Amino acid sequence: MRCPVCKADNNEAPQCRRCKADLSLLLALERRRAQAMADAAARLTSDPGGALTVADEADQLRRDEESRRLLAVTRLMNRDFAGALALRQEWTSGPRT
Ligand SMILES: [Zn+2]
Repeated sequence: MRCPVCKADNNEAPQCRRCKADLSLLLALERRRAQAMADAAARLTSDPGGALTVADEADQLRRDEESRRLLAVTRLMNRDFAGALALRQEWTSGPRT
């Protein structure tokens, strides 16, 4: 995890090792996001609708290619083919601004 203040890499510590910035909120957000992504993956086949809700939440907490891919897969599982394709085009053509 990278410190947003000084850009030092930190290892799951609640305080930056270099500049002592408070990273606890960031840490909590990352944990919640990781949990949501694991939850979505686990529910993909048994509860695609629920998986979509948590995959969306993970993507909103912090968006990266991993969360976009997960969201695309959950959309596929919900038979939202157009929505999945839109995400696919997004990550092959680079991030939108
Ligand atoms: Zn720092």
